[in-house]
Amino acid sequence: MGLFHLGKMTFTSTFKKPATRLYPYEQREPFERTKGHIVCDIEECIFCGACARACPTSALRVDKPDRTWAINPFDCIQCSSCVLVCPKKCLRMDNGRPAAATTKQVRLYHQHPYSQAEKEQIAKEEAERQAKIAAARKAAAEKKRKAAEEAAKKAAAGGEATGGEASAKGDE
Ligand code: SF4
Ligand code: SF4
Repeated sequence: MGLFHLGKMTFTSTFKKPATRLYPYEQREPFERTKGHIVCDIEECIFCGACARACPTSALRVDKPDRTWAINPFDCIQCSSCVLVCPKKCLRMDNGRPAAATTKQVRLYHQHPYSQAEKEQIAKEEAERQAKIAAARKAAAEKKRKAAEEAAKKAAAGGEATGGEASAKGDE
């Protein structure tokens, strides 16, 4: 009886489609709500670093001077926090499977390099920003100095008045 079943199973399996797929050559359509993996539209990124600060596993590295954005997919827990905080909406959770990997590699995205005009504009903006900061600091220091002077004057005036009253009492 057992041999009969085994033979029947073997015979029918020979003519059936295989039960498994030849992944990664044959891939199943991902389910709608599969979390998948993070994808970055690097050309929209402004390298603000909000995603890296929000990442609970420190899977992200953002380097503004180098214009690079990198993710260690083996540290990512697919929580979507980075997607939610990105001000440019350039991160998304792709529900497809990531490519098969044989080594643990960081995925690095590199934005196109700055043109000379862009570099000059950035330097100009940075200089303006620094000038504004310096002016605000100077104004704050001046305000503080004036407040201290006023306080000293008031204190001196108060002292004179008290001294005058005291000497008037002494004369009586
Ligand atoms: S939050 Fe968005 S814009 Fe900011 S560094 Fe990350 S990916 Fe780029
Ligand atoms: S999905 Fe979560 S764990 Fe993955 S990179 Fe974004 S913030 Fe980090």
